Amino acid sequence: MAIEAVVDEEPGDEEPGDERRPVPACNDGTGGLTELFFSEDLYDIARAKHLCSTCALRRACLDAALARREPCGVWGGELLSKGRVLVLKRRRGRPPKQRPAEVIVIDGVDVVVSPEIRSA
Ligand code: SF4
Repeated sequence: MAIEAVVDEEPGDEEPGDERRPVPACNDGTGGLTELFFSEDLYDIARAKHLCSTCALRRACLDAALARREPCGVWGGELLSKGRVLVLKRRRGRPPKQRPAEVIVIDGVDVVVSPEIRSA
């Protein structure tokens, strides 16, 4: 008679250093990146999207956020508003007649921050 072992894992059962599950790029262990992912600042949003671009969970994260209809924040590399991907986000205040795009460097990579952020 064969005996089958059943392992029922609960979230949080993982041992430190458990390599089986990818670690979200936004999880620095301190919660310190939360403000970045829920900021209204276009530079913060660009930095959050860049972090997501390095995350192994990106697709699943976006799908889950859309299914939950997340009201705001950057999820899976996209800025969400009221459960939908926000394609265009303008800076606060009255827009100038013409504003050039700016380039910021994040982790050694040039990231163009246009007057509005557009999703890729
Ligand atoms: S894709 Fe999701 S889990 Fe990964 S860094 Fe972005 S918000 Fe975090």
